[in-house]
Amino acid sequence: MSRLAQTAGLTDIQREILSTVRDFVDKEILPVATELEHRDEYPTAIVEGLRELGLFGLMIPEEYGGLGESLLTYALCVEEIARGWMSVSGIVNTHFIVAYLLKRYGTREQKDTFLPRMAEGEVRGAFSMSEPALGSDVSAITSKGVRDGDVYVLNGQKMWLTNGGTSHLVAVLCRSEEGHPQDAPAHRSMTTFLVEKEPGFGEVRPGLTIPGKIDKMGYKGVDTTELVMDGLRIPADRVLGGTTGRGFYQMMDGVEIGRVNVAARGCGVAQRAFELGVSYAQQRHTFGKPIAQHQAIQFKLAEMATKVEAAHAMMVNAARKKDSGERNDLEAGMAKYLASEYCKEVVEDAFRIHGGYGFSKEYEIERLYREAPMLLIGEGTAEIQKMIIGRRLLEEYRFQG
Ligand SMILES: Cc1cc2nc3c(=O)[nH]c(=O)nc-3n(C[C@H](O)[C@H](O)[C@H](O)COP(=O)(O)OP(=O)(O)OC[C@H]3O[C@@H](n4cnc5c(N)ncnc54)[C@H](O)[C@@H]3O)c2cc1C
Repeated sequence: MSRLAQTAGLTDIQREILSTVRDFVDKEILPVATELEHRDEYPTAIVEGLRELGLFGLMIPEEYGGLGESLLTYALCVEEIARGWMSVSGIVNTHFIVAYLLKRYGTREQKDTFLPRMAEGEVRGAFSMSEPALGSDVSAITSKGVRDGDVYVLNGQKMWLTNGGTSHLVAVLCRSEEGHPQDAPAHRSMTTFLVEKEPGFGEVRPGLTIPGKIDKMGYKGVDTTELVMDGLRIPADRVLGGTTGRGFYQMMDGVEIGRVNVAARGCGVAQRAFELGVSYAQQRHTFGKPIAQHQAIQFKLAEMATKVEAAHAMMVNAARKKDSGERNDLEAGMAKYLASEYCKEVVEDAFRIHGGYGFSKEYEIERLYREAPMLLIGEGTAEIQKMIIGRRLLEEYRFQG
């Protein structure tokens, strides 16, 4: 029934996948999302359903048992899922980034070992760059991996791991100076380690502790954790791609994909907020008519719908650019920045349309209101996006005079 956020030029297969996902969202996610979110409960049945749909393998190549779909298909699925419940898109996102890193940079053995089980959703991924003292400034990472014969010994503390407790495989970015002089720039002295672990909390493997869930304002249900490495021994063949010193670039590439994902989440949450706002505005009466008939409310709806359309168009453009093999950091940065800001604004307008009821936990908009801010922070804050956009613009429009 949605006229907004349509995407031209999709294949029959893409349309079929999206219609299946939308159906799943309407039947299996929307009816339970708010209740589960209020209880901060992991959506086990929903995750099982997504596994059955093959969603965990959406972009994993067919030779590894996945569907081999494009970033665009993935982003449009994420948009649908976030329309149902943003936390569920978070469960898929880090898994997808790790699968992408393996597909792009993994050794043959690493791909053969992990990708088929990741496509099944049997092994699920998390990725870890942030530490207690840093998030934006990735180059300041202090966690360290030091070679000791056939293994690397990892020490340090990581922060804010989405799916830290429920994942089986974590891509962890650490400093590693083997083969690089002590004074090598941070970007050349970082390595991505593939850390296998049991799901759960506490000591999940010798030397590796997941202390517990961080209690968050929103984005509940999905677990976000710390990760403590204390003499964690990782075989040398679990260095992503087999070569140290490339981690920074690998992770930045993964995050670029993640930015399209966050943009897609912003689009999905904003669409849901619009749906809730436009529906409520036609039911609530003041001064003898539905509030939708007051011009001030109609203007709000017009602004909200325009933002939904604009964010969707930019997100689709960023995904298509990456799918075409071109560099998309500018487009991904712009899409992430715009979609997350617009999402926050559309959600706030829908909240205002609900009047006092928007403040009640009985209304879905209350959940969205607590979820939208996460998008302003995750995969790089608005300020970081603007830094990326600004730098790229100066490259593209270099003064020739
Ligand atoms: C729910 C949640 C889930 C997350 N999941 C993950 C995950 O799975 N894996 C992971 O690695 N991380 C994850 N993160 C961490 C997230 O990526 C960081 O929080 C984010 O990058 C911001 O870093 P920070 O919190 O350290 O803020 P800081 O970097 O300390 O920034 C604080 C403020 O200063 C601004 N700022 C910083 N530097 C500059 C600058 N140069 N110029 C102008 N302004 C600047 C920022 O924009 C921000 O407003 C998650 C965070 C949250 C909240």
